[in-house]
Amino acid sequence: MVKAMSYEGKIFEELKMPARKELEEALIKALFRYSGVIKEFGSGEDIVDEIADNFGLNEKQRTAYLETIYRKENRVKKSLVWHRLLFRAADSLAKNKLVSRPTQTIKLTNKREWMLTESGIDKALELLNIPNARKDILPTRSFEVQKIVKNLNEASRPENYNPFQKNKKVSKVIKQTTLRTRAFRQAVIDAYDYRCSICGIKINSPDSLSWEVEAAHIVPHSFMGKDDIWNGLALCHLHHWAFDVGWFTLLDNFKVQVSSEVHSLQPNFGRMGDYEFLKALAIKNSRILLPSRVEIYPHHNAIQWHRQNIFYH
Ligand SMILES: [Zn+2]
Repeated sequence: MVKAMSYEGKIFEELKMPARKELEEALIKALFRYSGVIKEFGSGEDIVDEIADNFGLNEKQRTAYLETIYRKENRVKKSLVWHRLLFRAADSLAKNKLVSRPTQTIKLTNKREWMLTESGIDKALELLNIPNARKDILPTRSFEVQKIVKNLNEASRPENYNPFQKNKKVSKVIKQTTLRTRAFRQAVIDAYDYRCSICGIKINSPDSLSWEVEAAHIVPHSFMGKDDIWNGLALCHLHHWAFDVGWFTLLDNFKVQVSSEVHSLQPNFGRMGDYEFLKALAIKNSRILLPSRVEIYPHHNAIQWHRQNIFYH
C-alpha cells in the first residue's frame, strides 16, 4: 500500500498535477454550484472536464494513466491520473465529513453521488464569501437535510391528518428544527417544480443560487403548523402574502376562492399595469398546480383550517 501511494505521488509530481488542498477547495465550490451533488467521477462527466478547465490542465495531464498492480491477483488496473486525483480529494473531504460518499448517498437518493454535508455547506459559504444567513433559503442539498426530505416525501399519508405540532420542548430541538424547516422548504418547492402553485411563475436569482418561490405553511408556524409536505404549498412572494392574510383560500377540489372583499377594493389597488392580481384569481376557474403524486398533495384538514381561520370571507 505504501509503495502504491509513493508511485502515485511520484506521478502526480511528474505531471505537475494540482495540489490536494486546492483540489478539495475546487470540489467544494463545484458541489455548491451543482446544488450540493455531483456524480461519481468518470469519463464524460461534465464536472471532471470543468474542474480540469479551471486548473488549466494540459492534454497530457488529462489523459495520463496510472497502473495499479495487484500482485496476488496478477492483475493490472489502469485508471486516469486525473480521476484518481479527484477521487483522492473527494475521499479526503469525506474523511473530514464535508461530503457523503457515493456509497452512502446511494442509500438516500439511489444515485452514486458525492453530496455536501451541513459542514460542507458551511465550508462552501466560507470559501465563496456568502453570508451564512443566506443558508436558510439556499436550495443547496445537504446529506442531513435530504434525509429528512426523504422522510417527508415517503411518509404515508394519514387519512385524518393533524396539522398541528404538539408543544415542543424548545432548547434541545433547535438544531433539528432548523434542519427540518429547510427540509420542508426543499421538499415543497421540489414537489411543485419551483413554481408558484397559483400563477405558475418560476424564476431564480441571477446568481442561480436561490428560487423566488417560497414554501408556504397552510397552517402557519405561528399557529403551530407542522413542517409537513401536507401542510405546505409553493407560492410566489405575492401569492404567499395574499394567502397568509386571507385574500384567498383553497376549496377541497383545489380550486381557488377569493375573498368577496375584492369587490370593495379601491380601483388602483392590487394592480400591475392592466393586470389585477386578485380579480384575475377570482375569475380563474381551474385547479392550482399540484405535485405529480397525490400522496403529497396538501391535506384537506390543513386547507379546511385555513378556510375557517385565515380566509377573509
Ligand atoms: Zn404566484
